[in-house]
Amino acid sequence: MSEYIKLESDKISEGVKTIMDLGGHGLLRCVQCGACSAVCPGVKAGFPVLCRMLIKKILDGQLEEIIEDSSSWGCQACNRCTEVCPQGVRPQEVVFAFRRYQANDLAFSTSAITSQMNLHAYGHAVFTDARELRAKVGLPPEAPTSAYNEKAQKEIQTLLDNSPMGELGIF
Ligand code: SF4
Ligand code: SF4
Repeated sequence: MSEYIKLESDKISEGVKTIMDLGGHGLLRCVQCGACSAVCPGVKAGFPVLCRMLIKKILDGQLEEIIEDSSSWGCQACNRCTEVCPQGVRPQEVVFAFRRYQANDLAFSTSAITSQMNLHAYGHAVFTDARELRAKVGLPPEAPTSAYNEKAQKEIQTLLDNSPMGELGIF
């Protein structure tokens, strides 16, 4: 049986408020049913602190215990959790709010840094050079994306260079 966490409005912790302010607005509606975890590819891939478990840890006030956990960076933003949640929690938004919380504390996983570097170099967090394959199937080799558009790429780099990530000096 799932654990049900109910917080009185005057007992909401600073941590919960912080995650809600960072975008996890539906947090308090969670009834810990686990439907989101059951369909989450990140959970299936072995990232334990996503969906139901992430929300439980936040509501339990265990933010500091999980701040270094890399699970949130395993979220694929597929929104399956959002589709199945009976409470309208929008768990993916909670996951991204938690990522922002981690980023504010500079708690990045290696995989997150790699994807940020790809974003800076190509405009895509995950990038594969598909020119050969595209040419083989009769498409123009260069896809119409920032990866092959110098102006767009420069704009992305300007944004990233002037973000808190840029201040870390990883680009
Ligand atoms: S959006 Fe993220 S947390 Fe939600 S099901 Fe997809 S991978 Fe899991
Ligand atoms: S599906 Fe919704 S209510 Fe159920 S555990 Fe996930 S977030 Fe909570």
